[in-house]
Amino acid sequence: MKIALLALLFAAQADTAYFQQDIAYRIEATLDEGTDVLTARARLDYTNNSPDTLDSLYFHLELNAFRPNSAWARRELEYGERRFQDLGPDDHAFERITAIRVGDTPVRPEYRGAPDSTVVAIALPQPLPPGARTTVMIDWQTRLATEPRRQGRRGRHHDFAQWYPRIAVYDHTGWATRPLLPQGEFYGEYGTFDVTLDVAADQVIGATGVPVEGDPGWAAARAGGPEPWLKRDAYDAPAPQPLGLLDDAPAEGRKRVRWYAEDVHHFAWTANPDYIYEGGRIGDVAVHVLYQPGDTAWDDGVAVEHTKNAIAFFSDLFGPYPWPQITNVHRIEPGGTEFPMMIMDGSASEGLIVHEIAHQWVHGIFGNNEWREGWLDEGFGSFLTNWYFEAKGVPPSMWDSSLEGIRRMERAGQSQPIALESAEFRDPRTYSAMTYTKPSLVFRMLRDYLGEDTFRRALKVFYERKALQHVTEQDLRAAFETAAGEDLDWFFDQWIHTTATLDYRIESARARQEGSEWVATIEVAREGDAWMPVTLQVDGSARRLDSREPRQVVTLRLTERPTQAVLDPDNILLDIQIDNNRAAFEVTGSR
Ligand SMILES: [Zn+2]
Repeated sequence: MKIALLALLFAAQADTAYFQQDIAYRIEATLDEGTDVLTARARLDYTNNSPDTLDSLYFHLELNAFRPNSAWARRELEYGERRFQDLGPDDHAFERITAIRVGDTPVRPEYRGAPDSTVVAIALPQPLPPGARTTVMIDWQTRLATEPRRQGRRGRHHDFAQWYPRIAVYDHTGWATRPLLPQGEFYGEYGTFDVTLDVAADQVIGATGVPVEGDPGWAAARAGGPEPWLKRDAYDAPAPQPLGLLDDAPAEGRKRVRWYAEDVHHFAWTANPDYIYEGGRIGDVAVHVLYQPGDTAWDDGVAVEHTKNAIAFFSDLFGPYPWPQITNVHRIEPGGTEFPMMIMDGSASEGLIVHEIAHQWVHGIFGNNEWREGWLDEGFGSFLTNWYFEAKGVPPSMWDSSLEGIRRMERAGQSQPIALESAEFRDPRTYSAMTYTKPSLVFRMLRDYLGEDTFRRALKVFYERKALQHVTEQDLRAAFETAAGEDLDWFFDQWIHTTATLDYRIESARARQEGSEWVATIEVAREGDAWMPVTLQVDGSARRLDSREPRQVVTLRLTERPTQAVLDPDNILLDIQIDNNRAAFEVTGSR
């Protein structure tokens, strides 16, 4: 009774402790392709739902990472990389605030991390108490870098990601204001975006949200397949509120497209007059694919199909895709990046598309802080991608290279705790191994330990509780614990927060005959500070060993003479040495 009451109390406290700020952006922007400069104005309505009074607001100006002397460029110098440090004045990116006011009061942007300018603070003229709302007006000019990194420009092709002054997240830990660095990505407040883009009339645009007014250019760029499904009425979008930047009618040869999105933590867009369009639908979700001339791997519905299949798979695992459309675009840079309702991909590889679509859930719908807990979306997403391929019948050996890579690092003592903040990993290789690969194997162990049904139930619980909210490891742990009905601290503490290793081995396997029976005696030893239950298979039959003792002796009575004992026969565990996991039985004298 007392325990039940306490549990209720903690649950109630956890609920009231969570808060999420409300944001609504109205943006007008015009792209001058002569200079590649985007001139823009935003009105941000910001509501403080936190229990704290705020005296400042913080914004990310993330395009300022891609220029000399940014924190990003200086970090890359440590690895002998100079791609942004040496970019010349015509090539580097910038994002410059030209005017900013709160209500009617002009304020001064403060670059407290100078010379890095990816984070800007403004002091509020009046403190903002809990429950209060304020409005910030910002004029800025921005340009993408010719060296792409999640953003970029090449000729008339522009990939606009993190292109506007993005309000930093204020959560239970305070302001999340780390400068943008090579290791670690984004964290955003959920809100509404109402964005009018003024561009050359022949541009083809893809963006977060639906085009409520104007022509994105898809119909004219369509290669075949169904007509574009614009879904202009997907939201009850209000009448557009002019900000004064685009009051006149569009100039000759220009057009305007107004986009609208709700419940998203990022607004990305891309424009390229050469895009070719293919569309489709999966349930209520419109699918838009924009690829480049000569993209034979994308065309004929291939990229559309991969996108649809991935949406269907993850909707089934977690819960429905919550937005009206998904846009998959062939960006300038190789690799891929996820934004809500939009994935920017460097190729049409099924693995890449599935990974980025997985992020629509693990990061888009479950908005984790990617630079603080990158494994929550990258490790989870890598696991989910492999799960998709398992469901397609790809054999489990697809995990082998990941397992071997991490085992090698662990044997060499090169692991670092998965829970480290991204910038704290010693180098990009370790960051990648500990943020993508190792956690994907940890999720796989958890699925095997809990059983697939329980694991699936946990994903549904996670979705029901946390969709379209910020999430942390605690939220994910809690969902798994609810579904499993057991405490999983031991599992998460050990695998996420330590570098404890595990090495099971068969010390000996002996068999002797007793009348018509065979008695098998297997000595199992475990080295290292990590523990997992392990499956012991003797010929055709398997059993799970749950003992935490470093040494255990298993005795089996069998009808036939045993031949071989194998630990972890499915190769699931992060057991750093697997050549000692099997042994042939030695027959000893009968007694
Ligand atoms: Zn990813």
